[in-house]
Parts: sequence; structure tokens; C-alpha cells
Amino acid sequence: MRVGVLALQGAFREHKQALLRLGCKVTEVRLPQQLAGLAGVIIPGGESTTMAKLMQDYGLDAGLKAFYETGGALWGTCAGAITLATGLVGLAKQPRLGLLDITVARNAYGRQIASFEAEVEVSGLGPFRAFFIRAPRIVRVGPAVTVCASFAGDPVMVREDGLLATVFHPELSGDDRIHRYFIEVVAGGYA
Ligand code: GLN
Repeated sequence: MRVGVLALQGAFREHKQALLRLGCKVTEVRLPQQLAGLAGVIIPGGESTTMAKLMQDYGLDAGLKAFYETGGALWGTCAGAITLATGLVGLAKQPRLGLLDITVARNAYGRQIASFEAEVEVSGLGPFRAFFIRAPRIVRVGPAVTVCASFAGDPVMVREDGLLATVFHPELSGDDRIHRYFIEVVAGGYA
């Protein structure tokens, strides 16, 4: 299976390494034409306003929407989850793909505990060491969205059809189970 990692900005190398460990072929996606033939694409963490601007500059906003609408799967981590969200608290105009029916609040875990790690229980996978780095908080999930993991009462991993979002960083844990879930269940079962 060939999987893409959006490589405009942010923590894409660690995702690529995890996918290679799982035996995937990996494309670093910087242009829309590189989406052809991919089963899924990971949108990494980074800085969501910068990432959204680069997506627009390279035509990847339209490219990724078309990719999803024609059966491709998308997984956003942290800033990537922000770009997938339909709703953004206080920042309705910030450009994004707006495909996954959740509302997020950026940097909403507070300045003092902006970065922290915690064990979360992922349904079907068990306990998972989660690294949160200036993470968005998911403040609403739509009726078609499944919550796969929560932390302190808030969803931190959600899925809707071929869309997956984690507000933490599985690629930094050295634990590839969520990457495997994405390629086998979300991209594998959906494409
Ligand atoms: N705080 C960043 C944003 O709002 C996301 C941080 C991350 O991806 N680790 O875009």
C-alpha cells in the first residue's frame, strides 16, 4: 500500500518513518499530482495557519478535498486535525479543509501545560502513550463521529468514515499501532 505524508511543514519525517516500519511505500506530498495512487494521506502536526497557507499556495487544499471525495483516507495529527475540522472556535475564517464534523479550539490545553504526556485508552488498541504539544481541544463532535480515545473528558482521537484525527502525536511515541490502524482500518477499509 502506498501512503502519502503531507510534507509542506511540520513533523512529517516521523510519520514517514513509522509508515516505512510498517512496510508501506511512502510519498512525501508537496504537489496535488502526487496524490494519485495513494490509499491515504497523513497531515502532520506543525502550525495550522502556516500549513493552510502553504496548502493554498500549492493547490493542495482543493487537491486533498478531491482526494477524500474520491475515496482517499485522511489522518490529521494536531495541526493536521485542525485543518480537517469543520469548526474552529473564534477563528471561523482560518482556511482549512473542513471535512471532519468536529469543532476544535486551538492551543486550548493552557500555556502551563501546553506540552505534556499522558496515557490514553484507545478503543480496540488499549493504553497508548500520548504526547500533546500545544494541542487543540475537540469541543464538539458531530453525530456521525466516533470517539476512539478521550483524555480528561475530551475526545482526543476521533474517526468519521475515511477521516481520522488525533490531537496528540502518535508519531513521536515509537508505538506504531495507530499508524497500523490508519493503514489497515481507515485507508484499507475505506478506499
Ligand atoms: N498549536 C498548533 C496550531 O494551532 C498545533 C501544534 C502541533 O501541531 N503540535 O496550529
